[in-house]
Amino acid sequence: FLRGSPRKSDIPNVNFDDVAGQDSAKREVSELVEFLKHPSHFRQLGAEVPRGVLMMGPPGTGKTLMARALAGEAGVRFYSISGSEFIEVFVGVGASRVRHLFEEAKENSPAIIFIDELDSIGRTRGTGLGGGHDEREQTLNQILAEMDGFSGHEAIIVLGATNRPDVLDPALLRPGRFDRHVVLELPDRNDRIAILKVHSRKMPLDDDVSFEQLSAGTPGFSGADIKNLVNEAAMFAARDKADKVCMAHFDEARDKLMLGTVRTLAIQP
Ligand code: ATP
Repeated sequence: FLRGSPRKSDIPNVNFDDVAGQDSAKREVSELVEFLKHPSHFRQLGAEVPRGVLMMGPPGTGKTLMARALAGEAGVRFYSISGSEFIEVFVGVGASRVRHLFEEAKENSPAIIFIDELDSIGRTRGTGLGGGHDEREQTLNQILAEMDGFSGHEAIIVLGATNRPDVLDPALLRPGRFDRHVVLELPDRNDRIAILKVHSRKMPLDDDVSFEQLSAGTPGFSGADIKNLVNEAAMFAARDKADKVCMAHFDEARDKLMLGTVRTLAIQP
């Protein structure tokens, strides 16, 4: 039961090529790569570097992926926690985990600290229906204290992710905290083609597969939905014992995801 200690960190093996579309977000985030690679150079020049970056966007738009890609590009360690882990834990656990996480990241800097679902701890304080929110508040206060405690010499960037920026406590957005904002959007038609390509890179595809057509037929799909679609198509191809994934498999996968159909697979004797 590892709730008391931070998740093991690694240097992610993904980079910006794995993130399709999201060009403006990528541009903003990529400015941080040089800093993470050569922090002392920035320090020597007296350049002010952001401490906290808030990534916002609908579910499945690649916020986690982007954070990992930044660490991967810079070749630095990636420490992550999710705000939802602190709901209904004992008082003090969240704050102590945050403290350990920052300690470890500092010892192994340069590093990225990623806080997913920031809104589940970072909601405006004092709006709870009387009590019951002590744990969340303590965790939030610890994050703020850690970020305020940066001396300016740590080569650490804290990335927060949320799909509810509207409910965040304004204290989180103050200068020196999450004062830089990167917006991730649902992919448009061209982006969906790019995401289809990324996720089918290693798949044998039949000549009849048209990503243009698939993209036109999947409005509103997020990057995560498209990843799912590609995977489902491969599953259908496997079921058919096909040696390539055909358009019919993609169509079937799309219909399944769009209708949310629960399929009852016939059990083969
Ligand atoms: P949530 O808000 O639900 O946590 P998120 O915005 O953090 O979602 P991810 O978890 O990063 O989204 O996305 C899930 C998966 O969807 C990614 O691991 C990736 O495989 C795929 N994906 C999402 N966006 C993209 C993209 N722009 N390019 C390629 N793959 C993507």
